[in-house]
Amino acid sequence: MIHSNVSPDADDLSGAGSLQETFPSSEITNTTSDYLIVTLLATGLAAIKANQVQRDADRGVISTRRLSRSDLLPAPWRAGFARLWWRFQQAGLTAPEDDLTLFELCRTPFVEWDVQLELSATDREASLLDGDELSELAREAAKLGVRDVEADFVEEQSFAVLKAVAAMNATTDDQVQANYELLRRFLIDHTVISDKQVRELMRRFPAPGANGQPYVQSLIDTAYERHHSPTPTVTVRCCDGCGNPLPVDGARCGTAGCAGAPATRELRVFDAYFAQHRGVRRYIHDAGLLEVRLHDTLRAALPEHVVFLQPWPGRDAFDLLVAFLDPADPDPRRPVEVWGADGKDHASPSLLAIGFRWKHHPRCDRRFLVLPMHRARQLGYVRDLETELEGRDRGVKVINEEEFVRLVIARAQQIGGGA
Ligand SMILES: [Zn+2]
Repeated sequence: MIHSNVSPDADDLSGAGSLQETFPSSEITNTTSDYLIVTLLATGLAAIKANQVQRDADRGVISTRRLSRSDLLPAPWRAGFARLWWRFQQAGLTAPEDDLTLFELCRTPFVEWDVQLELSATDREASLLDGDELSELAREAAKLGVRDVEADFVEEQSFAVLKAVAAMNATTDDQVQANYELLRRFLIDHTVISDKQVRELMRRFPAPGANGQPYVQSLIDTAYERHHSPTPTVTVRCCDGCGNPLPVDGARCGTAGCAGAPATRELRVFDAYFAQHRGVRRYIHDAGLLEVRLHDTLRAALPEHVVFLQPWPGRDAFDLLVAFLDPADPDPRRPVEVWGADGKDHASPSLLAIGFRWKHHPRCDRRFLVLPMHRARQLGYVRDLETELEGRDRGVKVINEEEFVRLVIARAQQIGGGA
């Protein structure tokens, strides 16, 4: 029995939008078509969640109790259900009979489903929902599919304003890039800031917006939430590893791979402090931890006349450009060799590969996809990533961050020694 919302038309992808681009039909294999199901369902769940967030104050959770048959479920959910229905049919199994049953299935790890989807071993252990929350896998899958989840929206807005502030406070392209680096680094280094720090930022980036105030204020308003403080000192509980704020009762930091411990920080304020929005924290701050670590480790190991380092070249074509300089003529404009590194900290290696595109400008002699150690050490992760990357982007080497640093230092020594 099929629920009336489900059309068993496997080609019903209307409304799935950019998914067509992510999964070009010529590239669809069994594995990618099962990932398409995962992505469609996750995209649908994210859209349902976004609708519910809009509808009531119960932020950030999906409640199936409130899901009634009168709800018009999003197109990606229906398309995902239809494809899944066919997968069950082909395997001679009984498909979930309605949306509520499929919701329950989304809480179950894929490995326990009756139908065995062709997913990587890492992903088969995951489910789409952890309780009422989107799982890490579902969030990454949904990011391939939709652009209108609240967190995505804040992230995109923040990047747009960041680029505008960088450009408004510069006269040359080099200055725009320098401003971009400084502002992006600010967002990675500061999850919570005082109004005094905002004041300093406004002095550093004074170019006014439409209201006559420094436009950088819009970046703060987009990326952070303002909290009033009746006292001049604010004590914030945060992780001493990644800097993320922690709830008062929660003991451990939930940032992937972070081994930090709870700590407190005191902020001196005029009358307010600002805490980063969820989307900015997840996609700019958390993702930036690896990017910043790569840069800082290499900078500490190699002097400026040996390698020139450019974070986020071309305003974020990739994460780090490494230019090896000629010892006889250490001019960054005439490097001996250029390497590019893109740092990726994703739960699902297969979804990472499916969504991965290298931007070829500026040009690099060697290209690396750099994994943080906590992902690289995960059993099967690198193998799954390399398998899924095959045939998508040739010439990108998957490497862990420690190996990458060693490789750069070794190459710098070779070039320095005239080898
Ligand atoms: Zn942490």
